[in-house]
Amino acid sequence: MRTFYIETFGCQMNAHDSEKVIGTLLSQGYQQVAKPDQADLVLYNTCSIRDKAEQKVFHRLQEFKKEHGKGKLFGVLGCVAQQEGERIFERAPHVSLVAGSASYAKLPQMLVQLESGTRRVTGLSLDNDQAFETPFTQRDNPHRAYITIIEGCDKSCAYCVVPFTRGPERSRTSQSILNEARELARMGYLEIQLLGQNVNSYRDPSPAGWDFARLLRAMGEVDGIRRVRFTTSHPRDFVKDIIDAIDENPVLCNHVHLPVQSGSSSVLARMQRLYTRDEYMRRIDWMKQARRNISITTDIIVGFPGETEEDFEHTLALLDEVQYDSLFSFKYSRRPNTAALELGDHIAEDEKSRRLAILQEKQRAIQIRRNSELVGTVDEAFVEGYNQATRQWIGRTTQNRTLNFIHPQQPEPREDATLAGTAWRVRVTRAGPNSLAGEAVI
Ligand code: SAM
Ligand code: SF4
Repeated sequence: MRTFYIETFGCQMNAHDSEKVIGTLLSQGYQQVAKPDQADLVLYNTCSIRDKAEQKVFHRLQEFKKEHGKGKLFGVLGCVAQQEGERIFERAPHVSLVAGSASYAKLPQMLVQLESGTRRVTGLSLDNDQAFETPFTQRDNPHRAYITIIEGCDKSCAYCVVPFTRGPERSRTSQSILNEARELARMGYLEIQLLGQNVNSYRDPSPAGWDFARLLRAMGEVDGIRRVRFTTSHPRDFVKDIIDAIDENPVLCNHVHLPVQSGSSSVLARMQRLYTRDEYMRRIDWMKQARRNISITTDIIVGFPGETEEDFEHTLALLDEVQYDSLFSFKYSRRPNTAALELGDHIAEDEKSRRLAILQEKQRAIQIRRNSELVGTVDEAFVEGYNQATRQWIGRTTQNRTLNFIHPQQPEPREDATLAGTAWRVRVTRAGPNSLAGEAVI
């Protein structure tokens, strides 16, 4: 029995790719182990969105350099693999496999080559026009499943490596997505999260030619699926019909992650984001005017080249105006091949840190205030697990808030009974900046 270990870095797309890689390896007779020292094959599914993420994998490879002599094989998958290609063999000579996500469909053949002793195997082509579909996906969560609807990205945001690491956009047919969703429902999954770097530019390649809103509506009708989420949305392709679809059907979660990146139109132009602040705000207005209470989250980059103090103030003002429910914020990081490298006026690291701290403090205050307004309300929480330390069930609302709670009749999991995978009405009794706590209403 051959064994493998895999560690995943980065976004949900990577997490889901790993589920497919694991499924493929299991189907080839490999067994997954929990620690790299127990494995014959050690895989890192990597992220290169920021420099820090990229460095992590090289640290990992350094740690295990000496293991190579003991007959272990090492593989680098994902975005760093695609970005660095065969240079990885120079930086880490004990690596045998380097493959980007567009080549995973060829994983079984690559494994055969490795097993037959080929010293260096690569899968780096980006011209694969098929999304990576596999019948062998080994899902991590028994209740919530990811489905990739579109791979790659055709935008060219000036700071971003994704178009170089994940290639051009390829949408899956609506039929294959719906078949996967029905199969998941049959297996007992309750929640589906549709994935893509830009789900809004989904275009069904089959004659049906559905757009994203049409697909979303169909997903909301799959028998047995109680929640449908999606991520990520690009503001440029975000149309009002998506909000109308959410308004029509409570199965479609009332949460939209709409990355803005900056509140300054001149920074947005230099970022090549293809929208202005006003155009972004129009989309926010659609959401605020919706019948359902849609929670809105975003991504922000501080310290993009040339970002002035005034530009940064515009971003802070945007936070006040939108009142996001949550956000991810990052210091701009220079990435290879990207257009932003050519821009002048790079911002000093400590200035980026200062801006990030101010932004995060402001958002923390907004979240504390917004969450405290929810104390006393009742919401539905889907149970994802149990936290032994706090002795609470871990729940999530349709707005994607964490709502942990106690259940008077079942304070903890028993061998024959767990609440995981069930839904409860929960009264919110406490609020923090990042989560809510409450008690099940029985
Ligand atoms: N496709 C999504 C979009 O267009 O918003 C996001 C893709 S990326 C995986 C997630 C986030 O990482 C981006 O929204 C951006 O805020 C951040 N990011 C991407 N490149 C970055 C860079 N070079 N430096 C800092 N943050 C970056
Ligand atoms: Fe990167 Fe922009 Fe594509 Fe998002 S839309 S993946 S930020 S290039």
